[in-house]
Amino acid sequence: MFKKLLVLVLALSVMSVYSQDGAHLCSQSKIERFLRLQKISEINYPGDSKIDVTYYKLDLKITYAPNYLSGNVTVNAKVDSSSINTVYLDLTTVLTVDSVLLFGSSTSFTHLDNKITIALDRNYSLGEALSLQIFYQGVPPRTGFGSFTFDQHNGQPIICSLSEPYGTKDWWPCKDTPADKPDSADIWITVDTSLIPVSNGKLIEIVNNGDGTHTYKWKSSYPIAQYLISLAISNYVEYVNYYVHSPTDSMPITNYIYPESFTTAKPQVDKTPLMISIFAEHYGEYPFLDEKYGHAQFSWSGGMEHQTISSMGAWYDGIIAHELAHMWYGDLITCKDWHHIWLNEGFATFSESLYLEATQGSTAYNNEINKRMDNAKIAVGSIYVQDITDFWEIFNYARSYAKGAVVLHMLRGIVGDETFYNILRTYSYHPSVAYGVAITEDFQAIAESIYGSSLDYFFQEWIYGENFPQYTIIWNKYDLGSNHWNLSLRIIQQVNTNPSFFTMPVQIKINCAVGDTLVTLFNNVQSQNFDITIEGEPLSISFDPSNKILDTVLAIVHGVVGDINLNTFSLEQNYPNPFNPTTKIRYNIPFVEMVPLKFSKVTLNVYDILGNEVATLVNEEKLPGIYEVEFNAERLGSGVYFYILRAGNYTSTKKMVLIK
Ligand SMILES: [Zn+2]
Repeated sequence: MFKKLLVLVLALSVMSVYSQDGAHLCSQSKIERFLRLQKISEINYPGDSKIDVTYYKLDLKITYAPNYLSGNVTVNAKVDSSSINTVYLDLTTVLTVDSVLLFGSSTSFTHLDNKITIALDRNYSLGEALSLQIFYQGVPPRTGFGSFTFDQHNGQPIICSLSEPYGTKDWWPCKDTPADKPDSADIWITVDTSLIPVSNGKLIEIVNNGDGTHTYKWKSSYPIAQYLISLAISNYVEYVNYYVHSPTDSMPITNYIYPESFTTAKPQVDKTPLMISIFAEHYGEYPFLDEKYGHAQFSWSGGMEHQTISSMGAWYDGIIAHELAHMWYGDLITCKDWHHIWLNEGFATFSESLYLEATQGSTAYNNEINKRMDNAKIAVGSIYVQDITDFWEIFNYARSYAKGAVVLHMLRGIVGDETFYNILRTYSYHPSVAYGVAITEDFQAIAESIYGSSLDYFFQEWIYGENFPQYTIIWNKYDLGSNHWNLSLRIIQQVNTNPSFFTMPVQIKINCAVGDTLVTLFNNVQSQNFDITIEGEPLSISFDPSNKILDTVLAIVHGVVGDINLNTFSLEQNYPNPFNPTTKIRYNIPFVEMVPLKFSKVTLNVYDILGNEVATLVNEEKLPGIYEVEFNAERLGSGVYFYILRAGNYTSTKKMVLIK
């Protein structure tokens, strides 16, 4: 799913809504409409674990005037328990169940708390088949992002579904969990002949019923998660282009577009074949090649990756690429439960950057990743979603989308491009997950098997941990003779909550007179020393120069490594001293009492010999770290000056001499 409205920030009763690109502000009415959507609290999830669904058939009749749905759903399943005499399906009690058939014979049922509990005619044992048919009707409620919507565009009806995460049961009886995919599904939709009903898979047949209605019979022959079964019904213009996947064969990309949007949408959907080629090259072939890909315009402002037919509320490159990428990550492999939604959304968000890289080059990729890093830095909590009863938690943009995408970028940085895409291609079609479901550990195991080494530190800290590393680097150099130098480095991380610090390979670029040297260090201690011998005198260093890590570099200090006490406040002697007219003053805000991360109010002022304040060098809240400020005394006369550091209860005074 691609959300147009992504992060709600409420502060001092000022509300801002950030879109995908972090810049666009949405109108107040949209915000209100979004906030009005009902918050869901789940009681049934994860569905009846005693059955394994093998097939769904939806046979629905839908009218716009009045807004109404009636129909029947067939559920075939196998018993996945030693012995049962009841089963349940999930369906909102807003809808009315008229009857339930078991193998074609009427059976008794109750419909309470959004569950249809069905009596079986005897005890059924492990592996036995069940076939149920539920007849029901009513006006589906609209929950979540708009599980079932009757709306209008340009005076014409648009009826559409967006079931993720818990809205499937708002319009059809199902086992409401992504963990249990049927092997196939039929979706038959009967509507007024002025409308086209669009759904998943292949269009098998259109039947004119001779009563002003027609029935479109869609069939998904691939496994499909319940929330990816969709419908979109409107007065569409149908436009087909093709993905040529071999010299002799192609797959249709079928687009259903509002007539008034066609001119805008056409040049955009014409980019889809190229996008499919790019993703197929990096992720493996398009997963539903025997059916189709396509887009169906709908009334929500974002997009939704319904299998083989994404529902679209906008037509820009990012959203088209995002929903398409979900065909691999979301649809081919579906997160087993919503705790692991980053396996859908992080991957689809990363794919937006990949599309930019493939079409515009690495600068475009890096710019996009930088934006996702900015989003990811405001993430609160772990990427693994702790509270899946609240869809705001599941679809938190900073965590599930942006930080999830950055995790893939960081994995790419660790293992290198070739291994990274080998991991993704292997994951896509690995028999343990392809056309099935996955959790983080499935992806991790495949990544490790291709990489050939454990990545447990990486997944533990980035998926189950929170925040990101904040580094201070102190460095010094020693002449070893014969143009060889020792570079001594200390990498210090601020204390984090979980993990307390981040283990990561880090890159340091050493700028020497003779050229640059790039070294990778495995940083696995909170405050860690490294000694590197290099040719040529090091002049300066940069940390993580290629932006491979979601991090903040607090300071890079050229100083005596290990000389500064990191456990207490300190104010160093300025250097040079005496000076004219500039000098540098270094001070340390200690790492003690760092859990949780604390700021200290710090001031650093300069006084003349009479006690008159002549300069304020620092007056702000500071995180622990080593800092250096420059003092420019251009406008002052020669003489003795004092500088005083005040931070909390700590005060320190030092003397310096200006000689002009
Ligand atoms: Zn998405």
